[in-house]
Amino acid sequence: MASTSPAKIYLGSKKRVLETGDTPPAKIQKSMSRSSRLNNDSALNAAKVHPFFAKPAKPVETGPFRWESPFGATKSCLHGVNLEPKSSTKVAALDLDGTVIVQSFNGVDFRWWNKCVPGKLAELSKEGYSIVFFSNQAGLKSDLTRDKWKKKVGSIAAALPDVPFRIFAALKKDKYRKPDVGMWEELETLFAADNVEIDKSASFFVGDAAGRPKTAKREKDFHDSDKEWAAAVGIPFFTPEEYFLGEPSESKS
Ligand SMILES: [Mg+2]
Repeated sequence: MASTSPAKIYLGSKKRVLETGDTPPAKIQKSMSRSSRLNNDSALNAAKVHPFFAKPAKPVETGPFRWESPFGATKSCLHGVNLEPKSSTKVAALDLDGTVIVQSFNGVDFRWWNKCVPGKLAELSKEGYSIVFFSNQAGLKSDLTRDKWKKKVGSIAAALPDVPFRIFAALKKDKYRKPDVGMWEELETLFAADNVEIDKSASFFVGDAAGRPKTAKREKDFHDSDKEWAAAVGIPFFTPEEYFLGEPSESKS
């Protein structure tokens, strides 16, 4: 049997070493304990590539989610759309990492920040809010990491089949990056094309970058850019703990 990386099998107290494909001499086979023989078999099997892993990965099911043309002279603001979102006067704006999903730096998989999040988003949608995610993603510097991230957003969309939403992502440190308000201005322009003026007092923003100090339960916030962004836009601000879990306010200093 051919193998690029031979599995070495140690035969108990005999201190003999076999390479993958070797048959232990009869004398040694007889002296092998039952568990040694089993280990020998499983080690040899593990050295083969199981056909399941050799197959190409199944494409991620993204559902009716699409990426529109990016905004900005350097296309630094990505714009994605799930289903057919209506332009509403009230906007439920949310940060993504650390707010809607647990922050992660690679991979297509994602985890909700809390299990209540998808239900809450569906509820907001039913109540007539336009749901819009605003995310700083200047860390996505290569095409590879950007493509992975885009796939992850597709997976999030597929997990929200009843929630039309938009997502904006600022790829550079320019006017689109929170706390600058470029992403919000693009939303206002889109809504204005539908003759909808956003009612800021009926809208709100949820984000984890709130400048909170370290507590027993949580590390210090890495930034206050979400809180600053909501103030610059002029809409009420909540942390994910306040909004999703109903915890008392600690961000309204
Ligand atoms: Mg965040």
